[in-house]
Amino acid sequence: MSYAIAAPAVPSLPILGSDARFPVRRIFCIGRNFADHAREMGATVDPGQPMFFCKPADAVVTDGADVPYPGATAELHHEVEMVVALAGGGRDIAPELAGALIFGYGVGLDLTRRDLQAQAKAKGHPWDVAKAFDHSAPVSALRPVEQGRPGPQTQLTLLVNDVLRQQATLEAMVHDVPAIIAALSKLFELKPGDLLFTGTPAGVAALQRGDRFRAELEGVAVLEGRIA
Ligand code: MN
Repeated sequence: MSYAIAAPAVPSLPILGSDARFPVRRIFCIGRNFADHAREMGATVDPGQPMFFCKPADAVVTDGADVPYPGATAELHHEVEMVVALAGGGRDIAPELAGALIFGYGVGLDLTRRDLQAQAKAKGHPWDVAKAFDHSAPVSALRPVEQGRPGPQTQLTLLVNDVLRQQATLEAMVHDVPAIIAALSKLFELKPGDLLFTGTPAGVAALQRGDRFRAELEGVAVLEGRIA
């Protein structure tokens, strides 16, 4: 079998302590998973009903790389989030079994064209142009679970130009990681290579060309980069 055109490259992330890379299949994101962020967006949290959207796998930008300022927006926002990488998958996964499917953890930015998102919300349109654009998913190197997992007291932090923008502990998440995996697997068959962006706390704000960002999941992962 041969392809009629060159096959697209497999997007991938580096792994701490390994020369192997993590191949990215899909990127699933949860919205409104911290009550303080839902409030700042004028929304409310539905504890029974997680809200999901997706980004393409090739939206990943690796640690240290420049992120080009996207076109079609004047309001590029940062959302710092814990990222979960799956080594296993399935459908209708029970929360108790979800932890065993996790390959490792990282930290990422769910970059958002906030102006286009506001327009989409007002018109009842989908969020793709606001969320799923090229280079919209900078992600750190992944820390395999054998090297340690984040806990409820682990802090998620974002500095922009050395100034604190966002900070929260993971216990503030409305839906924890097992609950997210269980809910997602009722909607999609999850597979090895999937990444989950697990929601952002309050403090989302604009990024400008030239801004340097430093996202950290305490003791687990660091992501640094620059808006070019
Ligand atoms: Mn988000």
